[in-house]
Amino acid sequence: MTPIQLAIAGVGKIVYDQHAPAIAGNADFKLVATASRNHRIEGVTAYKSMTEMLGSGTAIEAISLCMPPQYRYEAAREALEAGKHVFLEKPPGATLSEVESLKQLAAKKGVTLFASWHSRHAPAVQVVKRHLQEHAPRQVKVIWREDVRHWHPDQEWIWQPGGLGVFDPGINALSIVTEILPQAMFLKQATLEVPSNRQTPIAARLGFTDALGTDVQADFDWRQTGEQTWDIVIETDSTRVHLKKGGHELWINDAPCELPVEGEYPSLYAHFCKLVRSGSSDVDVAPLRHVADAFMLGEHVVTDAFV
Ligand code: NAP
Repeated sequence: MTPIQLAIAGVGKIVYDQHAPAIAGNADFKLVATASRNHRIEGVTAYKSMTEMLGSGTAIEAISLCMPPQYRYEAAREALEAGKHVFLEKPPGATLSEVESLKQLAAKKGVTLFASWHSRHAPAVQVVKRHLQEHAPRQVKVIWREDVRHWHPDQEWIWQPGGLGVFDPGINALSIVTEILPQAMFLKQATLEVPSNRQTPIAARLGFTDALGTDVQADFDWRQTGEQTWDIVIETDSTRVHLKKGGHELWINDAPCELPVEGEYPSLYAHFCKLVRSGSSDVDVAPLRHVADAFMLGEHVVTDAFV
């Protein structure tokens, strides 16, 4: 089969770290162009904007949108209007309603829209999902603590409205939990700590439940120095399940489990290929909806300025 002619818009950290190598390693895609104001990928035709790229006549079938979420909707709309399949980095938008608008547009144009959640492609996730279908979860503890200075240096957008703050990594944990739990959960209470000089939270504690009364607690914190923690611990009716390192390690009853080796982004692009080739879309907003609920229901506490 001929490879899908792919472009990337919004070239930055995640493109250099993950998208470019995953695409280079996948024969189903050929990277033919980028659209980015200041950045480019060596050896790939570069345009400054989506409009310039779409008007260039370059044959493009699909576009991955990797700019910060606040600036993604216009680019996505332009790409879909031009009949291109679209891959959205997480989170899929700055609001739920704009994602709904894109979903409707993709359906109208008959093209694929993929709202990607890379953490759902971590190797432990599908293993745990199957385990929880046989062992009812009773209690879930999510601990997602990292050092914002290390992971997000100079990313001002993350502190601005729509940038999500600590929910930028926290939504990855929510994308895993919403994938593996057999029942849909909903938020009961939340506390968001917002630095006095910023617009988005630096820490959040969330309490969810579901129709069966499962207790789900999440602790997101960006002030962790030293060892970083991306753990989910699940007590089921008869087992203890421990996902470590964002789902890259799995322990059940304190014994390590063998996991598949495929990386998150290679798996994301394999899935995107299947969607494009089968003419379908995959747009699950559940993780973003929980974040929106947290901003709506949560107590906002002002904390120390972040410099
Ligand atoms: P980034 O490097 O700060 O931004 C990506 C690129 O977007 C920038 O290099 C910039 O390229 C473009 N951009 C920035 N502001 C823009 C604006 N106002 N309008 C249009 N384009 C703009 O961010 P990132 O870390 O790659 O993250 C991008 C997305 O990927 C986010 O949604 C993030 O949650 C997600 N993600 C990030 C990571 C990670 O580890 N960093 C992991 C997984 C997912 P130009 O200056 O060339 O236009």
